[in-house]
Amino acid sequence: MRLILLGPPGAGKGTQAESLSATLGIPHISTGDMFREAVAAGTPLGREAKSYMDAGKLVPDEVTIGIVRERLDRPDARSGFVLDGFPRTVPQAEALDEILKDLSEKIDAVVCIDVPEDKLVRRLSRRRVCRGCGAIYHLETKPPGPDGRCTVCGGELYQRDDDTEETVRRRLEVYRLQTEPLIRYYEKRGLLRTVSGDKDIDSVNRDTLAALGRA
Ligand code: AMP
Repeated sequence: MRLILLGPPGAGKGTQAESLSATLGIPHISTGDMFREAVAAGTPLGREAKSYMDAGKLVPDEVTIGIVRERLDRPDARSGFVLDGFPRTVPQAEALDEILKDLSEKIDAVVCIDVPEDKLVRRLSRRRVCRGCGAIYHLETKPPGPDGRCTVCGGELYQRDDDTEETVRRRLEVYRLQTEPLIRYYEKRGLLRTVSGDKDIDSVNRDTLAALGRA
């Protein structure tokens, strides 16, 4: 199955993508994770991406489209994937259509995770991520272990540089202006399913699988 998860920062795309990846046996492809790995490794891509990420802006389309094209061509992605955080602009969505056409593939469904904006800032400012395995925590709704570390691998948790309040507000504005038009883009193609992300993680997961006909 070839899926796209759409929704504002903090909607829970990463958490749901991880779970869909495990349930459906398809790779989780997150452009945000790919950029963060490049930043941590200090590669030229990472150095370019960092300034945009820290400012809460989007990395330029041509850079982002290039890394997704390479990733989708890898053998593990040829029989399905769940895209998290891509596409984020209409030109990215058009480029994705072209990439998939070249591979004789197409998107099966786009799930938009809907969360009221006033909840998002609170969610993001309390988000923590494991340095070891990337697992995502929330200080209230999905707390770390009693030692404050990752319950999966025991790794140290950190707050993303772009999860500060000012950058979060900028990211939400970027979402409204540049990414929200994709809802209409995929609705017109009959691919859009919307689920409420304003519930606990397991309920959102169940609703998402039901929306995909996999419940
Ligand atoms: P995320 O982890 O999806 O919230 O992404 C973190 C940051 O990485 C974003 O705020 C952007 O700076 C960058 N990024 C991730 N995905 C994209 C994309 N599809 N297009 C442009 N920039 C992106």
